Amino acid sequence: MPDHIHDAAIIGAGFGGIGAAIQLRQLGRDDLVILERESDLGGTWHVNRYPGLAVDIPSSTYSYSFEPNPHWSRLYAPGAELKAYAEHVATKYDVRRHMRFDTLVEGAVWDEDQQHWTVNIAGGGRLHARLLLTATGFLSQPAVPDIAGIDSFTGTIVHTTRWDDSLDLDGRRAAVIGTGATAVQLIPEIAPRLAELTVYQRTAIWVTPKQDGAIPRPVQKMYARVPLAQRAVRGLGSGILELMMVAGVLNYRRTRPLNRAIEKIALGHLARQVKDPETRRKLTPDYSFGCKRPTFSNTYFPTFNRDNVHLETNPIARIEPDGIVTADGRKTTIDTLVLATGFNLWDTNFPAFEVIGRDGKDLGKFWREQKFQAYEGVAVPGFPNFVSLNSPYSYSGLSYFTTIESQMRHMKRLLGEVDRGGAATFEVTDRANATFLARMQDNLENSVFVNGDCGTSRSYYFNQHGEATLLRPTSTINAFREASRFPLEDYAYA
Ligand code: NAP
Repeated sequence: MPDHIHDAAIIGAGFGGIGAAIQLRQLGRDDLVILERESDLGGTWHVNRYPGLAVDIPSSTYSYSFEPNPHWSRLYAPGAELKAYAEHVATKYDVRRHMRFDTLVEGAVWDEDQQHWTVNIAGGGRLHARLLLTATGFLSQPAVPDIAGIDSFTGTIVHTTRWDDSLDLDGRRAAVIGTGATAVQLIPEIAPRLAELTVYQRTAIWVTPKQDGAIPRPVQKMYARVPLAQRAVRGLGSGILELMMVAGVLNYRRTRPLNRAIEKIALGHLARQVKDPETRRKLTPDYSFGCKRPTFSNTYFPTFNRDNVHLETNPIARIEPDGIVTADGRKTTIDTLVLATGFNLWDTNFPAFEVIGRDGKDLGKFWREQKFQAYEGVAVPGFPNFVSLNSPYSYSGLSYFTTIESQMRHMKRLLGEVDRGGAATFEVTDRANATFLARMQDNLENSVFVNGDCGTSRSYYFNQHGEATLLRPTSTINAFREASRFPLEDYAYA
């Protein structure tokens, strides 16, 4: 028997891990340990510090509903404010003291005899906990492209998740590889400082206008005095996001015209902002809106009107010590290479480390060999006392906080039942899991992922088998309702 068994081990100190810790403490589980790979809390908002970083969901919506922040400076707050907000919440709800930083979890194993999890930490440490919760994020394993010659590059190379604050870009000849949401924020910020910038685009992104602006101080003060006012704004923002998600993405089969209308808005935005027809053509996506994560920006497209910015759509053949060669044999000399190449979800995440459940069942193998699946996006048969917060079909709505808070509700109902019955373990039943999976697969039949033109989108919503198993294909209202009312017998308690 180990010396000490914690009530719970939470892996990840981002917003998901903080939310889980708050919930567990409210349920009387105070002996927590939160293990975090990075040197501080905040997850995405600690790791990402690239120029231009801002939230691209309205800030009133991108926060815990029980801890509104009246002080957001803009409708879409800059990244540093999100990091400060994470620190504020962790301190106020007293969960910071449970955190251990620079602690990389390598694996977790269920001990059937002792009925607890053993968590193995890089460097040889280990600890034990009755519950294991993984809050390791969806976009937390950076993808470094496997381009021939990339290791031979002798200039400065930086991935956007490892931004070097001391990097002086003035007068440099740089390349950015990637045109996802990160690049869309970064490129307009760095372009004016560079001598030359070549943007390597493989797949164009849908970009709609951004209704951004500073939130004047008197409004911030009013939000502080009258929280109901900010709650109303949050409700409006959530409603718009829900409409985009449910109508535009999940019910695409019935609401295709809405989707087309958004495409028209995005194409009009492009036409107004980019002068050169050839550049416009290259920036026009060839897949349906919604297949891939779209973004908002008023400054991305105009950057391509600048004389020092070039859009390259020829595929990259190789990287040489001082430049990039495209498939047509042309070489662009650069001294700085920025990798805005995103994250690897389906090979190195899900789960982010080895998780071994009952009878040696390996979670990663199970997901890859038997389909990605998780009951209500949180539980998997064969894994007792395990809450997987970043699971297939768990991401609900467009603001991550919808997912976090519906999962907090699920935990409350589940652990409430565990406590009422004095059970030592819980485990979702095969039947409940299979029923949920069948329903998610059925719902997907109405979505843009099945009915849209997604073939060329290269979207991370799809896994390596071409199935769109990331987002929960239901409304967020449904997610919240089920989190509060799922049949308690969907779990076995012992
Ligand atoms: P991403 O959307 O996955 O984009 C990665 C980009 O790199 C894509 O354009 C991709 O091209 C390109 N790429 C990858 N490997 C390549 C290769 N070998 N050769 C050429 N191009 C390559 O990643 P991201 O932009 O970092 O954004 C990820 C997500 O983070 C977003 O969708 C969003 O959810 C979130 N995000 C949020 C915010 C915010 O809220 N503020 C900001 C930024 C990001 P293909 O498309 O052809 O694969």
